[in-house]
Formats: sequence, structure tokens, C-alpha cells
Amino acid sequence: MELTLWTYEGPPHVGAMRIATGMEGVHYVLHAPQGDTYADLLFTMIERRDRRPPVTYTTFQARDLGGDTAEMVKTSVRDAYERFKPQVMLVGESCTAELIQDQPGSLAKGMNLPIPIVSLELPAYSKKENWGASETLYHLVRTLLLPVVPPPNTPRPKRDPQLRPKANIIGPTALGFRCRDDIREVIKLLAEIGVDVNVVAPMGATPDDLLRIPDADFNICLYPEIALTTCTWLQRSFAQPTIKTVPIGVGATRDFIAEIGKVADIDVSEALKRSQSDTLGNWDVSRLSTAANPNASRLPWYSRSVDSTYLTGKRVFIFGDATHALAAARIATEELGFTLVGIGTYSREFAREVREVAKKHGLEAVISDDYLAVEAKVAEAAPELVLGTQMERHIAKRLGIPCAVISAPIHVQDVPARYSPQMGWEGANVIFDSWVHPLMMGLEEHLIGMFKEDFEFAEGHMSHLHTAPAQELRSPESAIAPTVHAVSNQAVLTPLAQEVEGITWSADGEAELKKIPFFVRGKIKRNTEKFASDRGITSITVETLYEAKAAIGK
Ligand code: SF4
Repeated sequence: MELTLWTYEGPPHVGAMRIATGMEGVHYVLHAPQGDTYADLLFTMIERRDRRPPVTYTTFQARDLGGDTAEMVKTSVRDAYERFKPQVMLVGESCTAELIQDQPGSLAKGMNLPIPIVSLELPAYSKKENWGASETLYHLVRTLLLPVVPPPNTPRPKRDPQLRPKANIIGPTALGFRCRDDIREVIKLLAEIGVDVNVVAPMGATPDDLLRIPDADFNICLYPEIALTTCTWLQRSFAQPTIKTVPIGVGATRDFIAEIGKVADIDVSEALKRSQSDTLGNWDVSRLSTAANPNASRLPWYSRSVDSTYLTGKRVFIFGDATHALAAARIATEELGFTLVGIGTYSREFAREVREVAKKHGLEAVISDDYLAVEAKVAEAAPELVLGTQMERHIAKRLGIPCAVISAPIHVQDVPARYSPQMGWEGANVIFDSWVHPLMMGLEEHLIGMFKEDFEFAEGHMSHLHTAPAQELRSPESAIAPTVHAVSNQAVLTPLAQEVEGITWSADGEAELKKIPFFVRGKIKRNTEKFASDRGITSITVETLYEAKAAIGK
């Protein structure tokens, strides 16, 4: 047993639903108790789909347990086949059904329906949503393509040099973070370098499309959590190479193009050169684009422009699925000049990759699906910006730290109506805007550091977001008497860091601490307390504060 209030991922059958819902012509019969239909809402509300997911639930109740629940499976399979006439059927069970062991997949296979049945074995007590999606995609593709796998070690015939290379894009699903727009952006990138798209799967694909997968020259593993198992099998079975770079961020997009150039044996130097050119140019009204290079991202210039100087060294904490966390770490440190003070993932399958990046930055990765553990790590690292999931948005709000969402799980506002990819050139533009937006603007940061007594622009205030000071959010007194916050700011220390037991602050030490800009104060407070406790100092004065600063700065 594990006490859980929030979970980063749903059970694995929700992953299977994400595959079925993203596709056409696939139906999923799910042996599940009454009430499990709640998962439909993820698709109809969060993703705002215009139809129910293609899922038939057996919806057994307590009174059915004394009877023949296996018969309910057969009836549901028969009815779903008659009513929806799918080309392929997935059959599986949810957590509760797993306990009663009706073997729904084998039952359905025994019914001799004239379509392929994919029996899903998704252990709900040890695995989660992304794993469930990955397994479902793999078994679906494997069931359909196994009959046409060539004998082992058959080399791929060489591509006719007259023909453009063809790629499959594997991995985008229903309910994936920004999948809808990432696909468009990646197709655009491929067109730019002369690569055609053969199949995009599972999103938008039919079983017939899956049968065409072997026609492509290579596979793009767009979301490894979902696609890596399938791409690895395709590579083994059809000698189709896998493109492993995920094009999130300018550097990664360049590497992605370079990797495709190598694998497809095409010249991509022009596209790479274009992506490096000055992206600003002059605004050309007649063409309604930035004339110099509409295909390049504005991120490099924006982050080099002088307004971004104050972003240098901002302390950032990153958490999410492994793909997005790794991409974010690279953008944050190489493209925006932030300092990484924490990184982690709930994707245990990709913990090794995240640990490697953490190590490069002298950190220990947080590999956990316990949001309380993540919250403790965020508080301890006292970052100035959190890049995370919907959970970290809540955590950051409680701690009064700016935050942007970079990964699922997400709420409805992260399925926006406007074009908002994360991948490719435009994705980098979206990322620049959404990460910088929650931070205090440079001028305001400077002025608040200089004039702390302003009644309106008090500490923690970000006028561009119309937010109240962070202390107001955190201080119970000011929640009762909101009008006194400007006064109470003078007395409340930022409670970002854990108090170290047995240590107090002298009045002059506390006054000096308050002169430090609020967004780094938590970190300095914690470092000083640790410095004091290591040396057996119990009362921190101005001198202790500066001694600590000098010692840590060495
Ligand atoms: S069967 Fe699983 S998904 Fe359904 S309500 Fe129970 S725990 Fe939740």
C-alpha cells in the first residue's frame, strides 16, 4: 500500500485508451467495474474531443460478481463488433477486473470474429499509463505486421535515389502533451529537408496505415515513452533505423535534422545553415513574416537580446516525463542560460537518461512518482522557476515560485485552441514565451530590489501577472486581513527553506536578509542556516550572513 493523493500517471488501461482514441477503426473492449467510464472525460473534456472514445466497458457491478462475469465480456465483445464494425479490436481489463481473472483477451480470441483481436496484458498494480500506451501500440503493430516480417537478417533494399526519403512518425497519442501541434511542426520540418511522411501513428492512423509502416525508410521515435518499444521492434524486424533525437529546443531540432540527414543520406546543410542565420531581419509587411528566415526560431535571438540578460543564472527546477524533462534541461542550460538546480522524472523506464543529465550538472535526479517527495526537493533547492507538470504548478503556487508547464499530466488549459507546439522552430518560440512569462520582468525585478517600501509593488509582486506578493499567498494572517500585506511584508521572512532546528536570526541578521531579492532569499537563508549549524552558531547575525556568503562563494 502507498498513501497517494495525486498521481502523475493513470492506470495502464488509460494508456491503452489513449492509443485507441487517437486512431480510427480500432475499438477497445475493457472489462471494468461500473464507474470506470470516468476516463471518457479525459478525452471529451480535457482534450475536448467531439466524440466518446471508442471504448465499450463491461461495467460489472457487485451483484454480477456472484454470476458469470466472463459471459459479460463475450456479450460486450459481440455487441461492440456488431455496432462499431472495427477493423481491429483491443481487449483488456482494468485494475479491478484484473483481480477476478476472466482472461477477457483469450475469451474474445475464442469467439472467432473475422478481425484481429489484440489481447492486452497490462499489470495495473505494477505499471502505469505511459507503459500501458507503449505496450498497446507495440502489440497492435506487432499483431498486424508479424505476418509480413521478412526472414531474419534480410537487408533493406536501397532507396531509389530518385525518390524522396519517407519517414514514419511514431508516438503521438490522444491526450499527449501538445501532440496535435508537434505533429504539424515536425511534418513541416521534414518537408523543409525533403522528407515525406509515410504514416503518423497512432494519432490519426487506421489499421491499414499501420500495415504500410514497413514502406518507410526510417522511423522517427517522437515520444520515447510511447514509441521506443515499437520502434525497436520495427528496427529488428524490418531493418528500419530509428531517429532518436526528440526535436524540442533549437539545438535538439538541429541535431534531429542532422540525424535524419545521416540516416536518410540526404544533404541537410542548407536547412542547418538557414536555422543559424539571423532570424530577425526586417519585418516585411508585404510577406507578413520575418523576412530573413521564416523557418528559423526566434529563441536564439530573443535569448541573446539584452532584455534576456537578467535571465542568466536563474535557478530552475525541472520535473516531468523523461522526454520533456531532458529537453527542458538542455534548453534551460544551453539556450537560455539558466542554472539547473534540480531535475527529475516520474518515468522510471527512462531514469537512467535523466540521472546522467543530473550528474552532468552535479545533481542527484529525483526519480519518483510521489509528489510529496518532489515538493520536498523543490523546497530544498529553492529555485526561482519551476518547469513541471500540473502537479508542480500546484507545488510552485504553494511555495510562491513562478512555474510553467512542460509535460503531462496537464489540465484543460494546456490543450489550447491556438497553435502551440513544443517541437521544432515554432515550438522553441512557444517555449521561450511560456517559460519567461511567469518570471518577473527585468525592470520590475531591479526596482523592487531598490525600493522595498512601495505600497503597491511590494516584494513578490509581479505586475505583468497581476499577482499579489508571494508572502500574501503564503501568510495565513494576510489571508485574513489582506489590506495589511504591505506592512506585514516587512516582518515576514520568506519561508521557502526549511527552518534549521535550534537556529535563530538576530534582528540585524534578519534585516540584512530581507534586503536580498525575495526570489533568491530562500536559498541564501537555507545556506546560511546550514553554515551556522555546521559551525555550532545558534544566532545568525549580519556577520554570520556575510561569512556564509564568502565561504559558499569560494
Ligand atoms: S478499476 Fe482501477 S481505474 Fe477503475 S476505479 Fe478501480 S482503481 Fe480506478
